[in-house]
Amino acid sequence: ESIFDVVAQAPEDPILGLNEAFKTDPREKKVNLSIGVYCTEEGKVPLLNVVEKAEQKILEEGAPHTYLPISGLPSFTSGVQKLLFGEDSALIKDKKAVTVQSLGGTGALKVGADFLAQVLPNPEAIVSAPTWQNHVAIFEQAGFEVGSYPYYDKASGEINFPAMLESLKGLKENTVVILHACCHNPTGLDLTQEQWAQVVDVCAAHKLIPFLDIAYQGFGDGLEEDAGAIRQFAASGITFLVANSFSKSFSLYGERIGALTVVCHNSEEASRVMSALKAVIRANYSNPPAHGAKIVGQVLNDPELLAQWHADLKEMRERIKEMRRDLADELKALGAKKDFEFVTRQKGMFSFSGLTPEQVQRLKDEFGVYAVKSGRICVASLNKGNVKYTAEAIKEVL
Ligand code: PMP
Repeated sequence: ESIFDVVAQAPEDPILGLNEAFKTDPREKKVNLSIGVYCTEEGKVPLLNVVEKAEQKILEEGAPHTYLPISGLPSFTSGVQKLLFGEDSALIKDKKAVTVQSLGGTGALKVGADFLAQVLPNPEAIVSAPTWQNHVAIFEQAGFEVGSYPYYDKASGEINFPAMLESLKGLKENTVVILHACCHNPTGLDLTQEQWAQVVDVCAAHKLIPFLDIAYQGFGDGLEEDAGAIRQFAASGITFLVANSFSKSFSLYGERIGALTVVCHNSEEASRVMSALKAVIRANYSNPPAHGAKIVGQVLNDPELLAQWHADLKEMRERIKEMRRDLADELKALGAKKDFEFVTRQKGMFSFSGLTPEQVQRLKDEFGVYAVKSGRICVASLNKGNVKYTAEAIKEVL
C-alpha cells in the first residue's frame, strides 16, 4: 500500500505524444505537422543568426551566473513593453504597465492566472472554441471555472464573429476573457482590426478582464501589425493583461523566455500589482532563468541586432506564407476534392485543415504524415521537399 495508490495515470499530452510517436516512426518518408515548431527549408529548428551573435557577446562578457531580480532582467522587460505597446506608448511613459519575465508564454499565463485568482472572489475565465488546450488546464489549475465563447464556425470555416460578440456581452463582470492577439492557435483565423475595436468596446462596457495571449508576434503580418489588438486595448484605458512569448519569434523554445504584462489604471496601482506578481513568482520558482532574457534583452536594445531580428522574422514569416501557397497550389494541381485556398488566408504557424479525425488517422497510418486529431496542421513544418508529398497524402484521404 502506498499514498500514491490514489494517483491515476494521467493521459499523455496529445500533441507532445504525437511528436514522440513521430520520432520513433521507422518510415523513411514521414512529415511531422503536429507540434508548433518552426522549421527551416532543411527541416531543422533554426538557430537564428541574431541569437548566435547575442550569445557571442554574452560569452565575451564572461559574467558570473548570479540570480536575476524576481521580476526578471530590467533591460528585457522594458524591451518587451516597447515591443507590445510601441516605442512612444503613453502607457509606458505614465508607468501604467508592469512587466515580469516568465517561463515562456505558458509561465506568463500561469503567473497571471495565479495573480487573478487571488484578486477575484469567484474566478471565471473564458476561452475561444477551440483554443490551445493548455489555456483551459492552466486556468483550471489556478482555481478558475473555465468556459468558452464561440469562435470557429465549422460549416463556413470562418470565425463566427456575431456569435462571439453576443457571447461576450452575456458574461458576468470580471470574467477573464482569454484572447489570441494574433495567429490564432489552432485555427489560423484572426479578427480584423474593426472587429477588435468591437471586442474592446464590449470588454469595456461589460467590465470584462481581457487577457491577451501573443505567442506568435511577427509570424502574421509583422511585429507592429501583429500588435494591433494590443495597441487598441492600450488606447482604450481599460485594465488588461498580456502574456507574450519569444519561444517561436527567437526560436528559443528551450530557454523558456516570455513575459507577463499587466496594464493598470495608474502608476500607484501598477506598483502594488508588481509587488503581488513578485510574491506569486517568489513562492513558485523564486526568480527566472537568465540566459534567454540576456539574449532577447541584448537584441531588443541594440539597433543593429534589432534590425537583424526583424529580417530573420521576415524570412520565417514569408517562408510560411510560401508554404501555404504551395500547399494550396499542389492540392489544386492534384485535383483534390476540396478547395484549399483558405489555407493561404490563415495566419501564423497553423492551419485548421478541415480534415476529420479519421482522415488524420489515415494520413498517419498510410503516409506517415502526422497532424493533430482536430485537423490542425503546422504549416511552418512544410518545405519544398515535403509539401508535394503532403498534398498527395491529403488528396488521397479526402
Ligand atoms: N499560447 C499559445 C496560444 C501557444 O500556442 C503557445 C505555444 N504553443 C503558448 C502560449 C506558449 O508557448 P511557450 O510557453 O512555449 O512560450
